[in-house]
Amino acid sequence: MAAKRSRGGSGVFIEAAKRLIFGDGIVNEMSESIASIQTVSGTGANSLIALFLATHTRCSSIWLPDPTWVNHKDIWEVNAPRITTRCYPYYNDSIRAVDFGQMLHTLENGAQQGDAILLHACAHNPTGQDPTEEQWDRIARLCQAKKLFVIFDSAYQGFASGDLDRDAWAVRHFTAFLDLEMAVCQSFSKNLGLYGERVGALHVVTTRSPPTTAIHVQNRLVDLHRASVSMAPLFGCRVANQIFQNQELQDMWQADLMTMSGRISSMRNALYAELLRLRTPGDWAHVKNQVGMFSYTGLSMEEVKVLRTKYHIYMLPSGRASVCGLTNANVKYVAQSIHNVVM
Ligand code: PMP
Repeated sequence: MAAKRSRGGSGVFIEAAKRLIFGDGIVNEMSESIASIQTVSGTGANSLIALFLATHTRCSSIWLPDPTWVNHKDIWEVNAPRITTRCYPYYNDSIRAVDFGQMLHTLENGAQQGDAILLHACAHNPTGQDPTEEQWDRIARLCQAKKLFVIFDSAYQGFASGDLDRDAWAVRHFTAFLDLEMAVCQSFSKNLGLYGERVGALHVVTTRSPPTTAIHVQNRLVDLHRASVSMAPLFGCRVANQIFQNQELQDMWQADLMTMSGRISSMRNALYAELLRLRTPGDWAHVKNQVGMFSYTGLSMEEVKVLRTKYHIYMLPSGRASVCGLTNANVKYVAQSIHNVVM
């Protein structure tokens, strides 16, 4: 039987991180089949799984959503240059919703057995649009049928609904449903406010048999990590452990997540109400319906430029705005400025 070389970081942290994303039920049942390692936050987890697949598997393509977090493509190209980066349509600008039909169609026709697919666990960056539970279920069935290696990128657990369990629904549904190996890249940058401390984890769910697979994967992950960054930093993980090991602090943290996600959602509603009041041309319902920190406003690159130069309102050229930047004090100004640029 293979020996476990190292836990790959703080045992307390890894166990708590695993339980947060998978829930007690899955961990109690499948713990032996999950390889987990502490990483240099979510970016480190994404990089490590790319390196792992390139080094130890025959995976030849990674399917990324279009659009996706800007760093995904670079992470795969740098860490897994032999794996081709491909895109599946995710968002339809004209209906401002998940382009579910096109997504399924592209994967159905293009993805090959053994390809990897990246899915955002919740609060999709940059669109703020997540699949419905029914759509998630269809994606899971497609991944199962095509035997794809699913990689969940979980950077916003607790930021979509405010509820850590609810935001882990897709990950848990896939883990329970799929009889396939999969991975979860977990970041605590946003939900614990530890961006600069680089706190994260990578979990690889291996096949249930033989039970030694997880140990082998764990050892390979530890080796690759050691060769690339040695190990993840300790300070932020100690802060996280303080919270994970103390019920009172955990309750406070969960209440804070509710406050933060509630504030984001009230700012979305306020911006929407203001645009309606101003009779700003267009349908702005997406502003309140999207979830998470970002709003994919639908503003053009030119409109974004005018907002920046004339009104000092800053967002990405794609029109992605951080809703966290809105306050009761500035939301009217922002709405009026948007109104002016689209008129
Ligand atoms: N994935 C997604 C989708 C993100 O938006 C981010 C942060 N912007 C990350 C991963 C990585 O974040 P970090 O490395 O700070 O944990």
